[in-house]
Amino acid sequence: MSEPRVAPYVWVTWISKLLAGDAHCAWAAWFRAHHTYDRLPSDFDAAKWASEHTAMVREQAEALRQASFSVSLEDQNAFRLLGQQGVTLGGKPDIVAWRDGEVRVVECKTGQPRHADTIQVMIYMLVLPHAQPVWRGRTLSGCVHYQTGPVDVPAEALDSDFRARFREMMAQVGGGTALARVASFNECRFCDIGRLDCPERVEIQPDDGADNHDLF
Ligand code: SF4
Repeated sequence: MSEPRVAPYVWVTWISKLLAGDAHCAWAAWFRAHHTYDRLPSDFDAAKWASEHTAMVREQAEALRQASFSVSLEDQNAFRLLGQQGVTLGGKPDIVAWRDGEVRVVECKTGQPRHADTIQVMIYMLVLPHAQPVWRGRTLSGCVHYQTGPVDVPAEALDSDFRARFREMMAQVGGGTALARVASFNECRFCDIGRLDCPERVEIQPDDGADNHDLF
């Protein structure tokens, strides 16, 4: 069962994947922004992920402390920022670290590097100076930490093109017009919106094409 939200609400990772091109079903983000719903159960091992992720966050936070940074973690960094069109953006950076004039957003990822992770950090860098008074007027840099090592995100990544794409995405996902649904097995199998809310959900992997051809 789904219920309309009182006002649109967007979680950062719903739009980071779309901005990165790692997801294509904009309807999923639009639906989540405008509804609460019963999520499908997942076979994702959340306990294993939480354990690995927590260990990474602790390790990176300790490394930053050793380098004379002060750090705030997860729930300490949670924000909700209301925009001018009545849409609220929510997020929770893993680590915010500061030392002298430097402020750094650090996100820890247990999986393979994805462009969406960099975009997620860029959104945090863009939004935190507006969402939390302590960072007002500050320029933030960022970093995504993978098990294979760090990927730095310089402050200069927040250029006018990115700001415009972010603004447009927030307007579209938070807007009243439903966005395009792009149903595919590869995307639907990781989506928690069930068929009651999304009748186009693809649940069966398509067969390989027939081999009775001479194309190659
Ligand atoms: S189930 Fe598939 S088509 Fe439906 S919202 Fe999710 S990703 Fe989009």
